[in-house]
Order: sequence, then C-alpha cells, then structure tokens
Amino acid sequence: MLFRDKYRDTNLDEKRNRMAKILRDELNLSPEVFEAIKKVPRHEFVPYEHIGDAYSDIPLPIGEAQTISAPHMVAIMCELLNLGKGMKVLEVGGGSGYHAAVVSEIIGDEGLIIAVERREELAKRADEILKRLGYRNIRIVIGDGSKGFPLEAPYDRIYVTASAPDIPKPLLIQLKNGGKMIIPVGEYSQYLYIVEKDEYGRIKKTNWGGVRFVQLIGEYGFK
Ligand code: SAM
Repeated sequence: MLFRDKYRDTNLDEKRNRMAKILRDELNLSPEVFEAIKKVPRHEFVPYEHIGDAYSDIPLPIGEAQTISAPHMVAIMCELLNLGKGMKVLEVGGGSGYHAAVVSEIIGDEGLIIAVERREELAKRADEILKRLGYRNIRIVIGDGSKGFPLEAPYDRIYVTASAPDIPKPLLIQLKNGGKMIIPVGEYSQYLYIVEKDEYGRIKKTNWGGVRFVQLIGEYGFK
C-alpha cells in the first residue's frame, strides 16, 4: 500500500465528511451539492505536500502560480448554477480538475463538461487524475477559455474560475437561451456575477458579491 493510500484510509474520508457537513450547515446546501462535495476526494487533486490541508476550507497552490478554489466557493458556484442531470457545461479555468469533478457528480453520466485550461501542465495533470478516478463525462481542453469552446456550444451552463476584466462576448454567445453563467469580474475589486439568458436571448446580470480569484488571461481576459 502506498503511503498516500494509507493516509487516506485512516484520515481523509472522515475529514471530507466533516467538511461537507459544515459547508452544508453554513451554506444551506442542496442535497445534490452536499453529496458531490462529500464524494469527490479533493486530496487527490492537490499536490502531495498539501494533502494534509485538502479538507481545510481554503484555496491551495496547484503549481504554475495557480490555485484550487476553496471548497465553499466551489459549493456556492454549483448552487448558483442550478445544475441539473444531463446538462452540457463549460468550465473556463479547469485548474486541478476538482471543480469539474464536483459538477460531474451533479450532472451525472448523461451530462458533459468541457473544461478549458490554458496551462498545458495543469491540464495534463487534471486529465490524468480525472481519468484515474473514473470520470468519463469531463473533457479537458488546452486553450484560451476566454474565447469559450465553440465546437460544443451552446451550453446550458458556463462557469469561469478566474476573474475577467469584463464578461467575454464569446461566452455570452455560447450560452444557450434559458442558460446561466457564473463569472468573477474585476481586477483588484472582484465581484461574482450571475448572468442569465432568457428564452428570447435577453441578458440579465446580478452582482452576487465580492470574491477573490486569480486573473483570467487571454484574448477576452487580462493580457
Ligand atoms: N477550477 C479549478 C480547480 O478546481 O482546481 C481552479 C482554477 S484556478 C482558480 C483558475 C485557473 O484558470 C488556473 O488554472 C488558470 O491557469 C486558468 N486560466 C486563466 N486564464 C485562462 C484562460 N483564458 N483559459 C483557460 N484557463 C485559464
């Protein structure tokens, strides 16, 4: 047995259960989001030296000056998206792959997540972890997600895990009528926006509140 597996057996499942219950009680999580947070082994997505902190509710470094988001932020974004079984979802900023795994549990095998990550090393690592854990409904794409991923558009849901200077036009175009997007916007002061497109294609934006994310870098991001 690897040291990593042994450590997990004795400690980590219990810590994950505890963290999920605290988040459920504090954030009033739906059963779907609670079950997904309880199930996905966050420790598998963090570098070895941070395994002991995997179930603390904090962002952690994943290399290349990037971070895995704090579990409460992943849970909040999943709640705000109102995810449902079978949805097609675009993630911009795949990072470690953890957030995509949580979404995958909620949308089920009949759903699909396209997770775009601009840093090749992170994308390859996320792909390897997700495959090893058996996630079949997540496709990792290397590229500039500020342009979206038109090949699979339109999307029922889009979420962005890095802060943009403004809401990228291609993402608005690639969102289905009746769809929903969650995106942090701003440089020093950042706000999380809920963007809804109604059945006629009209856009409504709601500011959810202040957040802290790394920057979205790309054609429709920061340069
Ligand atoms: N969702 C991730 C997870 O679960 O680990 C956390 C992502 S981290 C907060 C933000 C990610 O966005 C980084 O991995 C960064 O490389 C990526 N990123 C920044 N600009 C991007 C772009 N234009 N397209 C795709 N990914 C981008």
